[in-house]
Amino acid sequence: MANLADSAAARAYAVQVARHRRWVVNPDTALTQPIFEGLVTQNRRFGKPFCPCRDTDGGPTDQDIVCPCAYAQADIDETGQCYCGLYLGVGKDPNTVTSIPERRP
Ligand code: SF4
Repeated sequence: MANLADSAAARAYAVQVARHRRWVVNPDTALTQPIFEGLVTQNRRFGKPFCPCRDTDGGPTDQDIVCPCAYAQADIDETGQCYCGLYLGVGKDPNTVTSIPERRP
């Protein structure tokens, strides 16, 4: 896990993840900047970058929502975006990013 000291580090981490998973980081910085700041806050609070779009107490039952969450691939396969809209599938138009149903049980 990268040390997410600030939102620039969170962005750099996301770029690495996207490259590895063959995703794209959403280029809409107005949307992603609060997500990066949220990831930094979660990382500072809980020691891991829990999804900033979901409630968490940082406990063991929430490991599935450490970013990139366990649901991102299925969401991207189905809708072209992750739940927060941070990661997109290749070819997804960022202008079509919207709120999608929560897949998490
Ligand atoms: S929904 Fe996106 S930003 Fe949130 S944890 Fe999953 S991959 Fe990360």
